[in-house]
Order: sequence, then structure tokens, then C-alpha cells
Amino acid sequence: MASGALTSEDLEIQERARRFVDDDLIPWEVHAEEHEGRVPDEVRSGHRAKVKDLGLFAMNMPKDLGGGGFTMLQQVLVSEQIGRVTNGLGWCVHTPPAWAPAVCTPEQIERWIVPSVRGDRHECYAITEEGAGSDVDAIASTARREGGGYVLNGTKMHVTSFNTADYLFFQAKLAGGDHEGEHALFFVDKDTPGVRLVREPRYTHTYPDTHAIVAFEDVEVPAGNLVGAEGDGMSFTHEWFRYERLMIAARCCGAMERLIDEATAFAKDRVQFGRPIVEFQAVGHMLADSLTELWASRLMVYELGRGIDAGIDVKVQHAQCSLAKLFASEAAGRVADRAVQTFGGRGYMRENVAERFYRELRVDRIWEGTSEIQRNIIADQLAKRGASALL
Ligand SMILES: Cc1cc2nc3c(=O)[nH]c(=O)nc-3n(C[C@H](O)[C@H](O)[C@H](O)COP(=O)(O)OP(=O)(O)OC[C@H]3O[C@@H](n4cnc5c(N)ncnc54)[C@H](O)[C@@H]3O)c2cc1C
Repeated sequence: MASGALTSEDLEIQERARRFVDDDLIPWEVHAEEHEGRVPDEVRSGHRAKVKDLGLFAMNMPKDLGGGGFTMLQQVLVSEQIGRVTNGLGWCVHTPPAWAPAVCTPEQIERWIVPSVRGDRHECYAITEEGAGSDVDAIASTARREGGGYVLNGTKMHVTSFNTADYLFFQAKLAGGDHEGEHALFFVDKDTPGVRLVREPRYTHTYPDTHAIVAFEDVEVPAGNLVGAEGDGMSFTHEWFRYERLMIAARCCGAMERLIDEATAFAKDRVQFGRPIVEFQAVGHMLADSLTELWASRLMVYELGRGIDAGIDVKVQHAQCSLAKLFASEAAGRVADRAVQTFGGRGYMRENVAERFYRELRVDRIWEGTSEIQRNIIADQLAKRGASALL
């Protein structure tokens, strides 16, 4: 574990998260895999309670709202450890929207944000639509001003954690008014009349959280549910994308470390042709390539975490979050593939960590912006600012 330039507090936080993952989460992975991602209710609530006891819940939120107030580097360190576990078990270390306190009204903070920091409420994001994925600006959902509020219409897909959330962030284009056609983001309680679950398709990973298709049919919300001002919708989404891209990259580092550890241990133990297979150069080279890619990824995410803490320019952050997510998620995919190969037939069994990561890591090249979109962002920033301004 790289520890250069980490403070004793950073190291302690890293170790706290690592112990929790090793002692409490990893032992439940195979059970979760065999039970559609679920663990017994008492185990799940025990995990949530322990995350709070350890001070890791809402680590990204300000202390005055009850959050952990961690630095970005410390959040990277925790996310990296969380990335070492499969089956979404690490999602008990929940991070509510850190962008919200700066733009929400006191009423919104009291009604949605503080309860989320306490773990009493849970949000999900309804942005993507059938016709609008990478091109978020193509959303067809509408928010029409009516009376003292808005009427929302549209159908969203891939709404992660709809089954566990009790409110949604719903993104729409304004219909009518001075900001016609501009984006707006709304708090919508899940039990508001007109919010309808269409279906919960099955996905590649075995997670307890679903990714739902949700219809919004003449959903009436008061004006107080609008986040920020009319026309601001995209800026919050971009801030959330940046944060998630960095945390995805950090989790990919954790996944790579776990895969390398497990594959190396197996390769040292597994004997074929009278020798441990790690002694075959073909196997050793796979492990060496994986370790090299882990180190490069980790250097990127730690450096970016430090940079954000030091207040680097937001445009540079935007480019660097894309660089980190692109590199780490693609590296993690290669590392998982090599780990499966190292385990041979065992690597194709669902009880094997390499098999699970091989499936689970695939989405890291898709969500929060595909690899192609990350490349577009990087190329655009490069053309505008030049390499020396970005690195
Ligand atoms: C498991 C999962 C969970 C998700 N959770 C959520 C969620 O909670 N809330 C939410 O709102 N969304 C969520 N998403 C949606 C996710 O953000 C989108 O899937 C992603 O942004 C890509 O959009 P798309 O799937 O429509 O692909 P498309 O945009 O249709 O892209 C298809 C292909 O075309 C490529 N492509 C598109 N445009 C370009 C371009 N300009 N240049 C080069 N290539 C391009 C893409 O890279 C991709 O390879 C989730 C998705 C998944 C799979």
C-alpha cells in the first residue's frame, strides 16, 4: 500500500476502512453472489451501523451538517478500500450529494440533505433517458410551471438505487417561462403521486440495488423543490460527475489491488508441471503488468485528490477526473481479465473474486460517462488549454 506523503491521520483512516472491508464485508461476498446480491437484513443493518460508528458514513459531507468532513484525498483512500469488495457491499459507505449544501435552501437542507447525512433518507438520480445517455442535453423530460410549482413529465432509465431510495433528483428541461428549454433539477419524493416504477431490468452485476425505469406522469412539486435556480440543472450534474469519476477511479485501484493480491497468492500456491505457476514467465508477466497499471492509476488518483484539496482550477479538475477515470477503469478491466486467466477454470466460477470483478468492473467504462466521452472531454480540454495547463 503506497503511503508516501500520507499524514498519520490519512493512514489511520485508510486502515480503518481497510479493516472494515476485510473483517466485515469480504466474508459476505459469496453469500451475496448466491442470493441476488442480498445479505441477511441484520447483517446489512449491522454494516450500516458499523460504517457510522467508524465515522465513514457521509464522509464527504461538511461536519456542521453531521458529515465526516474528510479531505478529498481521505475520501479517495476510503473509496479505494471500498473498491476491494464485490457485490456492492461497499455501498453502505454512502456519500450523499456534497454539492448540495452550497446551493440548497435551508428548508431543502433540513428536509432532504441532513436526513441523508444521518442515513435516514436516501437519494437516487434520474437523469438518463431512452433518447439521452451520453448526450444529457437531449433529455425530453419537462418541467412546466403551474400555479405555485412545477408539473414534471418524462421517463428515466438506469435509476440506480430506486429500490432503496426515498427521493430522487429529477432532471428536466423547462417548458415555458424565461428559461424555456434550459435544464432544471428537482427534489422529488418517491411517494409523490405520478412517480411510477415501470420495471427493474436485470444487469450484469449481482447487486442488491436495482437500476429502474421510472415514469414521471404529471408529477406536481412545489417551487421549493427546485434545486438552485432555473437553468442551473447541468452545473450540479457536472459537479457530481467529477466527484463520481474520481471515486470510480479510486475504487478501481482497490479492485486492482485485491485482484493482484488474490491472483499472486493463487499463482504461488498452484502447482502444475511440478512448479508453482508463478514461476512460469507468462503468468509472472501478467501479474507484473497488473501491478504496473495499479501503481500508475493510484499515483493519478492520489495526486488528483491532493490537487482538489489544494484548490486547483475547476476546468483542470474536470479534465483530470476524466483522465483518472479513463485510465483506472480501463486498467482495472485488463487487470480483471488477467486475474481470470491466472486462476484458469477457477477464475470462471462465481465464487471466485476474479470472476465477479470481471463482470462488475465493466460498468466503470460506461457509467458517469463512457470511456469515449472521457476521451472527448480530455481532447477538448487539451485543444483549449494545452497539455502543460492540464497536468
Ligand atoms: C449500471 C448502470 C447504472 C446507471 N445509473 C444511473 C443513474 O443512477 N442515473 C442516471 O441518470 N443514469 C445512470 N446510468 C446511465 C449512464 O450514465 C449511461 O448509461 C451512460 O452515460 C451512457 O449512456 P447510454 O447508455 O445511453 O449510451 P449511449 O450514449 O447511447 O452510447 C452508446 C455508445 O456510443 C458511444 N458514444 C455516444 N456518444 C459519443 C460521442 N460523442 N463520441 C464517441 N462515442 C460516443 C458511447 O461511448 C457508447 O459506446 C447508469 C448506467 C448503468 C449501466
